[in-house]
Amino acid sequence: MNLANIEKLFETWAPRWTAWERDNVGIQIGRRSKRVSNILVALDVTPEIVREAIATKADLIVTHHPLLFRPASSVSDADPVGALVLMLAEKRIALFSAHTNLDSAVGGVSFTLAGELGIDKPAFLVPLKDTLMKVAVFVPEQHADVVATAMAEGGAGVLGEYRSCSFRTTGKGTFRSSEYSSPTIGKPLQLETVDEVRLEMIVPRSCVTAVVAAMKSAHPYEEVAYDLYTLENGNPNFGMGAIGNLSKPMTVRAFLAHVKKKLHVGSLRFSGSPAQTVQRIAVCGGSGSELLEDAIRAKADVFVTADVRYHGFQSADNRIILVDAGHYETEHVVLNSIVGHLRSWAKSRGENLVVTKSKQSTNPIHVF
Ligand SMILES: [Zn+2]
Repeated sequence: MNLANIEKLFETWAPRWTAWERDNVGIQIGRRSKRVSNILVALDVTPEIVREAIATKADLIVTHHPLLFRPASSVSDADPVGALVLMLAEKRIALFSAHTNLDSAVGGVSFTLAGELGIDKPAFLVPLKDTLMKVAVFVPEQHADVVATAMAEGGAGVLGEYRSCSFRTTGKGTFRSSEYSSPTIGKPLQLETVDEVRLEMIVPRSCVTAVVAAMKSAHPYEEVAYDLYTLENGNPNFGMGAIGNLSKPMTVRAFLAHVKKKLHVGSLRFSGSPAQTVQRIAVCGGSGSELLEDAIRAKADVFVTADVRYHGFQSADNRIILVDAGHYETEHVVLNSIVGHLRSWAKSRGENLVVTKSKQSTNPIHVF
């Protein structure tokens, strides 16, 4: 397995197009051809994490938070980031980061947090917008299946847990080709009428080029007639935050104790009445305050996130129980999910890959 394979594996789980536009995700340091056999997984890169990677002979560190975030004007030991970049390059350790793209994925930060808190079948709190298109192609009836299969293989027709989703209507297609054409059906200069299917499939915007190419190569016609539409639907496959129900209601007091235990939080901050009973829980690992109104609109009783400001608690008013359980504490749960994904990918490829979760906390915040 090489670094390019790791990059490809993450593209299938948490593709980079789902990341915040100003984020910096993917390979941070390393050659794509570099062989990878031992991965250390951590939330951040710190000098301690690099030392742990050296000690355990890791050739790749996978983190959630990117080391290189702002454009660097130099790479030297004069600043902490440059010093870490040099240290990693000198020790030939690659670095890969999955940040806001991992926030947006099933099995990512918020879904893992929801699972840890016992939320059953979580859904995205805010599905990603402006990321979907629809392709409608006109194809002779007997070729509809092969074209649909090619489009599905290119990434079309995915709706949540459902694959190869399409809709087909039948009708008559007509054409008269020129004397320079080589039509699959009929003869040049003659008006032809063919039983055709209008085959529609939903496509992530990022896959449109690949899907159209696959569709054209599977289609029997010399000139393929198709339409591309931009959709305003939320994307059911990627989004921010997660929401779902606890198996049974509990008091706020009991829920907060549950959060502290599950996330290993020494203390947390919250607003609202501790005596209230809650069951519908919204979460967003890390700084998720901007989703507060979405959580209220989705009728959540509680919203668990981090980095909440004084006025954030104030604006929650009595509309929702707002819980700040800490940035590191609400995100570090995703490390188990990263380790699990990497191990199962390696197993499915029949490759030996050592994947270890760091034993150290990279939380810069201490509670006194
Ligand atoms: Zn974070």
